[in-house]
Parts: sequence; structure tokens; C-alpha cells
Amino acid sequence: MDRPAEQVLRWAVETYAQRFAIVTSFQKEGTILVDIASRLGLAPRIVTIDTGRLPAETLQMIVAVQERYGLPIAVLKPAESEVETMTSRFGADLFRDSVAQRKLCCQVRKVRTLDRFLPEVDAYAVGLRRGQSEPRDSVAQIDGAKISPLVDWTAGDVEAYVAKHNVPVHPLYAQGYTTIGCAPCSRAVNAGEELRAGRWWWEVDGDKECGLHFSPEGKMERTLDVLLRDVIGTHA
Ligand code: SF4
Repeated sequence: MDRPAEQVLRWAVETYAQRFAIVTSFQKEGTILVDIASRLGLAPRIVTIDTGRLPAETLQMIVAVQERYGLPIAVLKPAESEVETMTSRFGADLFRDSVAQRKLCCQVRKVRTLDRFLPEVDAYAVGLRRGQSEPRDSVAQIDGAKISPLVDWTAGDVEAYVAKHNVPVHPLYAQGYTTIGCAPCSRAVNAGEELRAGRWWWEVDGDKECGLHFSPEGKMERTLDVLLRDVIGTHA
């Protein structure tokens, strides 16, 4: 059974101490995790990934959240050699050409960056909620090392918490974004569109996931493996 977010977060920090981190991209849910920790008097490690393609507003959020809560934020970056190899082979905007190349970019810039950090912790918290998309509907609150304290929160719960506690809000929400990732791969949603419709909107058969939370399967996994080996073969 899901437990209240405060209870889960406190348990995680008290159990794992410095071997625990909040991993956030400063969307509302992630910033709420930081706010809850701060209200509880906890000081977990906070980690974010600068993919090199973030909107300026996300970089501003890192500073704003740091100033508001007085907690240091570690900024993880992708391996330069991997990014260089990938972009010289496929171009800087390779994600436009195919779902496989988009997933390759996400692997190099996000997934592998987080993977290099994870040996430093035994558990980490993310802002996943079940209502965000179909693949997320079956997310467990505690899934191995990954903890999703807000897993059972609704969008309304998020809005209510943000208003009640005056949580800093990423500026792009005010422009109609409902989910915010890299600049070239996120846009505002139109009326009636799904919550994650603003991600990789040009894809017709993509799953709107970057691979941080759900690994690709089947044919896509094999295609991605081949591309990835091509890019990181000499750096793995
Ligand atoms: Fe690359 Fe776009 Fe994924 Fe960012 S969101 S890592 S730019 S494909």
C-alpha cells in the first residue's frame, strides 16, 4: 500500500542518509519533493541532470531552488566524449530523424549520466505519478532503489500543494507546458492533448519516455543497443 509522501521521504533519508538522493528536473513534482524534505528539516542530496540541451528556464530554476531552500544541488553532465561522438556521427538534432536516434540521444545525455551517479546511492527519489501517462500507471511507490513518494498524487494534489506551500514553479508552465525536458524536445500542449503530448511530439510511435524510468523493449531495445555500441564502443 502507498504511504504518505512525507513518511516515505523521511524514512528514505533516515535509512540511507548520504546514500540517498532526490533526482529532479525541477518540474512541479520534483520541486515538491525538495519542499517536503525542507519542511521536514531533512537535508537529502539533490541531483539534477544538465543534458546540455536544457531550456534556460530550467537552469534558472536550479538557482532559484538552491536559493529558496539553501540546499546544494549537484549537476550531473553527460560524458563529453560520448556526446561528441554521437553528434559528429548523427548530427546535433539526431532525435528528429527516428525514435531510435531520439532514444540514443536520451541514453547518452540522460540515462548514462544518471547511471554513472547511481553507484553513489542505495536509494533515490523521483517525482513519478501514476496519472502522468499509461506506462506510469503501474509504477510502484518503492521499486528497488527507485522511490516515488508522490506515486498516488493526482494533478490536483500537485497544484494544491504548490499553492499551499508557495513552491517555486518552473516558468515554462505559465507558457502552457505540462511536462518539461530538453528545449528542442518539449513544447506547450494544446487544448485537449494528453499531459505528455508536449514531449517528442513529432513521433507517431514513440512511448514518450526517455529511458530513465522505463527501458525500451524488443526491437527498439536491440536497435538502440546497436546505435549505442557504435557511439560508446570506445568509451564504455
Ligand atoms: Fe536528446 Fe531530446 Fe532526449 Fe534531451 S530530450 S536527451 S535533446 S532526445
